[in-house]
Amino acid sequence: MCARKSVVALCLLFTATASAQTLSVKWEELTAADFVQALQKSQGVCMLPFGIIEKHGPHLPLGTDLINVRYLAEQAAQKEYAVVFPAYYFGQIFEAKHEPGTVAYSAGLQLDLLQETTDEMGRNGCKKIVILNGHGGNNHLLPFFAQAQLARPHDYIVYVYQPNLNVPGRPPLKDKIDAHAGESETAHVMVSRPDLVHLDRATLESGADQQRLHLPPGLYTGIWWYARFPEHYAGEGASATQELGQFDLKTAVNEVAEVLRAVKADEEGPRLQKEFYEKSSHPLDTKQ
Ligand SMILES: [Zn+2]
Repeated sequence: MCARKSVVALCLLFTATASAQTLSVKWEELTAADFVQALQKSQGVCMLPFGIIEKHGPHLPLGTDLINVRYLAEQAAQKEYAVVFPAYYFGQIFEAKHEPGTVAYSAGLQLDLLQETTDEMGRNGCKKIVILNGHGGNNHLLPFFAQAQLARPHDYIVYVYQPNLNVPGRPPLKDKIDAHAGESETAHVMVSRPDLVHLDRATLESGADQQRLHLPPGLYTGIWWYARFPEHYAGEGASATQELGQFDLKTAVNEVAEVLRAVKADEEGPRLQKEFYEKSSHPLDTKQ
């Protein structure tokens, strides 16, 4: 290809144009040179889709959260260009350690690895990092991590996002619990990786709430999830439909694309963070 000298110039032009049009959104698929272009195209916005490896009822794959969140990130980044970090599943999942296949890293390592990952992303030009959460067990970890970014200065800013699926027009759910490997999540895998759904096995275990803990509201203890859902299944996967999956993923992709646009436009976040770092290095000078 492109061997004849007479067409080299035209060919180079064509190659450059073609690669600009076809830049992958996936970090690991870009060449080093294309990565530089990708960061320019994304305006320094990168996404870290955050999954987990854990049991998902009797019928869904261990990587369900990672599979779904990466599907979402990749589709959204096609709409509003951003660079998507490779597969990341090093989150909080102690509550499923009794189930086969769960990968549960220690709490300290989770935070250190995430910090080093965002630091490395920042060093590579990702000045705005959107952590897209695909796993309910990270719901405390990720806002804490984002808050912890104020502890010392960084030249990048971290945002955390989880799509809201309860929007008008959503097909009504049959599953009253619908928390883990239930109707919604099963429906999402029916779209993202239909070949991995074993719907015929969804009733082999119970996803009903066992209600084994009797404590006042507001009193928290870590065993609450196991007390309610000992088989790491919460809801009824069997009621899932592809129609619901299509609706939800379309909603979520549009939401994430909108978030990417908002992050690109956000000048105040980085500016205020920089101002805060500067002031926090000499608090006695802060006007009282
Ligand atoms: Zn899940």
